Amino acid sequence: MEAFYNCIAQRLTEDRTKIEAGLYLHYPFCLRKCSYCHFSSSIHERETHRLWLSGIIDEIQQAASFFSDYLVIDTVYFGGGTPSLLAPDEVGKLLASVRLNFEVKLQEVTLEVNPAIGAERIRDWLQVGVNRLSIGAQSFDPAVLRVLGRGYTPEQIIRLVEEAIEARAENIGLDLMAGLPGESSRTLEVNLEALKELRPQHVSVYLLEELDNVPFGKVWAKSPVSEEAAAETYEKYRLRLEDRGWPQYEISNFSRPGYQCRHNKKYWKYQPFLGLGPSASSHLGNFRWTNLAGPGDWLTSVQSGGPGFSEFLELSPEEEVRECLASGLRLKEGISLQELADRFPGVNLSGFELKARELSGCGLLQLSDGLVRIPPEKFIISNSIISELLYQA
Ligand code: SF4
Repeated sequence: MEAFYNCIAQRLTEDRTKIEAGLYLHYPFCLRKCSYCHFSSSIHERETHRLWLSGIIDEIQQAASFFSDYLVIDTVYFGGGTPSLLAPDEVGKLLASVRLNFEVKLQEVTLEVNPAIGAERIRDWLQVGVNRLSIGAQSFDPAVLRVLGRGYTPEQIIRLVEEAIEARAENIGLDLMAGLPGESSRTLEVNLEALKELRPQHVSVYLLEELDNVPFGKVWAKSPVSEEAAAETYEKYRLRLEDRGWPQYEISNFSRPGYQCRHNKKYWKYQPFLGLGPSASSHLGNFRWTNLAGPGDWLTSVQSGGPGFSEFLELSPEEEVRECLASGLRLKEGISLQELADRFPGVNLSGFELKARELSGCGLLQLSDGLVRIPPEKFIISNSIISELLYQA
């Protein structure tokens, strides 16, 4: 591990100014395992929680010993799992450790919150430095919440948001899922009505993906939602959210002006971020790596001097261009070909430009003012468009 970190740190010194980077902290435990979940998470226990806390503090110090001379941390994101299982003093302790070990200019500190836990902790989380709450609501339709087995009611989500507003939280995001078994023609209206009442600053809408090897696959097999029906539902959300004052800025994300998620935009804009905790991914310079996923394996490796990696890649400039295009095209604003050329002067972009022109002739891409972007009404088939651009160019 040390050799890898040294190699990355050495590369970062080539650019003599410190770079702004996001910090992602992965909390891998949940109250229960949701039947549709394919993320890396296991059931919360007091002892493993305690061990994670001491491990992540060690990992913050280890990472800082290599990277603190080169990075300024400007966003922190507590993701999971269910990081709202962290008590406010624990979140405060982690933020204090980040401040102690890195130079920080924190503009955004996000905590993912599960509506089943947390209403009474909101005020204290805000007090220790969290300034953005990403609430995994999923749906305000009780029938859908039952199908998903989320273990809370719409009233609990509403109570949580009301608590947050009362505690003067200024940046609240609500995540919804769409295209699910159990949805009725009313589900969309119920969700939009709830959003209208609660007025969050940010809304995400996700379609269910990757159902292989998860228990929910059986529910899906009994009452599948066709691709066409899911696409139609997504399109309705897209248009209605835009109409109601949450302009879309990414395939699944909508926000009031000024409230786009700074941390997640680093992923889409191919900007640097450091991920700590089991299964967390990082991208610094032209390196990408992913920590070991199992909390036990991760902890053992941290205790022996640094995280083990399940994947470590050094990307060529051509591979980096593909990464930039694949993630940048998720943004509604698209990607500037000039910026891409400036960033990777040694890469010949003519093949991509030619293919982009061909796709724009079929209405699958838009090319204007030096920008290439996917027309929003084609976002639903973005994966095919991106792979056509990247692998046929
Ligand atoms: S709360 Fe999220 S991470 Fe945890 S099991 Fe459910 S979907 Fe997975």
